[in-house]
Amino acid sequence: MAFVSGEIVDRFRKQFQSAATPLVYRAPGRVNLIGEHTDYNLGYVFPIALEMACYIAIAPAAHGKLRVYSRDFDKEASIAVTDIASAKPTKQWSDYVFGVAQELVKAGFAIEPCDMFVASEVPTGSGLSSSAALEIASAVALLGGRAFPKVELAKLGQRAESQFVGMPCGIMDQYAAVFGHAGAALKIDCRSLGHEYVELPSNVRIIAVNSLVKHELGTSAYRERVAECQQAVAALKELDPKIESLRDVALDFFERVQDSVPMVPRRRARHIISDTQRVVDLATAARKNDLAEMGRLFVASHRSMQYDYQISCEEIDFLVDSAIKIPGVYGSRMTGGGFGGCTVNLVAPEAVDTFRQQLSALYNARYQKTPAFYDCLPAEGAGLA
Ligand code: ADP
Ligand code: MG
Repeated sequence: MAFVSGEIVDRFRKQFQSAATPLVYRAPGRVNLIGEHTDYNLGYVFPIALEMACYIAIAPAAHGKLRVYSRDFDKEASIAVTDIASAKPTKQWSDYVFGVAQELVKAGFAIEPCDMFVASEVPTGSGLSSSAALEIASAVALLGGRAFPKVELAKLGQRAESQFVGMPCGIMDQYAAVFGHAGAALKIDCRSLGHEYVELPSNVRIIAVNSLVKHELGTSAYRERVAECQQAVAALKELDPKIESLRDVALDFFERVQDSVPMVPRRRARHIISDTQRVVDLATAARKNDLAEMGRLFVASHRSMQYDYQISCEEIDFLVDSAIKIPGVYGSRMTGGGFGGCTVNLVAPEAVDTFRQQLSALYNARYQKTPAFYDCLPAEGAGLA
């Protein structure tokens, strides 16, 4: 919680040469435990919100603009508040903030001129959702305490990212940033937009490992996967007109009829349908304290992403394959959109030190990079810091 103290306020005043006393808001990153790419297929996902968060200090200003500075990019951007409604994306980081502002205007909330200082602990492009943390922190900062239903807040962030930024994402990241809860994972139903909190066994640590690689095909492959899932739905709808999304397809039905789906969409669908089932199974296993089963589900999910959804990469497979050989590791899988970023690992508390040392040494020897390790403790969703 590096920035809850006065530090962000001092940085705000220096940056904007202002004597104002800003309010500080935060929204967390998240690590998804299982259910990858299932959100835009309206299935289940199972993330936890992280203590690592995006902080925004905000205060009114007299310059007629929404002005925002990112400490992490050391860049400033601004827009006249009267131009927010008609703003077009510029393909820069500030799109996340201005996209949220535009959605708030559309929802009938006036944006007053202000300065915003952004400082995030969530590493960018690592699959821990720095983007939703920035969107939701921006939304709560710009709302400034004005009432807004929580689920609408998550949807607003998602619209900003899919429509303004141009990334056709599902709802998981923004939802986790809003609804995160200390002490529990969130099992989210991406169709009803309801959730239940699931307490995780106390005798396991959740460790994210950052591969520090991000392969560039990420965004185009994401669009491809969205389209391939739609192709699978179209083929399955021929057999059962009630099918609107892959969420509507039971695993046993799919196994019976999969030959009628073209090869590539078939593999994509197999991942989505099986990973949605694995969310249900992981929640059950967590409630029973069945760490062996949780680990098995993690690895099955990873193999499904590796071979059927084809969104892993060499470095991530190396981290997973190395991790599961280390004693005390129950399971390991990639988390997030894919093509790099982080793995998430279930590790016995007494094995964490060895896990870090061994995995770090192996990765270093192979890729000359020292992975970053994050201890993932479930934290609260967005609000005042
Ligand atoms: P992820 O959400 O997995 O971290 P994304 O590609 O979805 O990866 O989002 C990362 C992008 O979000 C960054 O490239 C940047 O545009 C924006 N972003 C996130 N955090 C910040 C920040 N602290 N300052 C400026 N931009 C940020
Ligand atoms: Mg993101």
